[in-house]
Amino acid sequence: MPELNLVLLGPPGSGKGTQGERLNEDLRLPYYATGDILRAAVRDQTELGRTAKGFMDSGDLVPDEVIVGVIAERIDSSEALDGFILDGFPRTTPQAEALDAKLEELGRSVGAVLLIDVDDGEVIRRLGGRRTCAEGGHVFHVDFNPPERDGVCDIDGSELIVRDDDKPEVIRKRLDTYHDKTEPLIDYYDQRSVLRRIQGDAPPDEVAEEIRRTLATMRLEQDEAV
Ligand code: AMP
Repeated sequence: MPELNLVLLGPPGSGKGTQGERLNEDLRLPYYATGDILRAAVRDQTELGRTAKGFMDSGDLVPDEVIVGVIAERIDSSEALDGFILDGFPRTTPQAEALDAKLEELGRSVGAVLLIDVDDGEVIRRLGGRRTCAEGGHVFHVDFNPPERDGVCDIDGSELIVRDDDKPEVIRKRLDTYHDKTEPLIDYYDQRSVLRRIQGDAPPDEVAEEIRRTLATMRLEQDEAV
């Protein structure tokens, strides 16, 4: 099978993480979620974490030069030779350009960008009710996926918390940042003919099915083009 370099694009709370983890299992490609990488760095109090924390807590993006290095290193690793799944990166035009430059250096390119489309109202409903396990990062939702016991993770019994960046004023800020900085990437990738739109306001199984069909169609088109 040819390599698959995949980018998941969409607003916060669009389900990129949920779908990314499924794709990671289905496609057996490494899954790099910059939000998860940065949260782990904050937890471990590394230099990266110390740099990123303030930006993250206020709903801002960490500077491009900080995050580009983190991703470039992973893409250039042996585990990513057959491809990778990126979630949360790129988020700005300079990041997309840096990704293209890095891939070009490796003789590769972005194969597909899946835009998971969800409107602002749905994002606010989803993120406002999200509860995250303090230890393992397991995710619940007060309405859509409640834990068996209020405030307690079903999986490891840890406390469930509201992530600092899931607080209402920060959600609004993250959405503004998305529209302002990340949305221009829709055009960027559309012009390069790699953008595919996925309806993100359906249940996770249906979104996963649409992604599966989209990737299968893309493969057929690529086979025909050879
Ligand atoms: P996420 O979990 O993807 O919503 O990411 C959480 C936070 O991490 C974001 O609100 C940003 O502060 C930061 N972050 C994640 N990915 C990036 C990126 N590619 N560029 C800049 N900041 C990022």
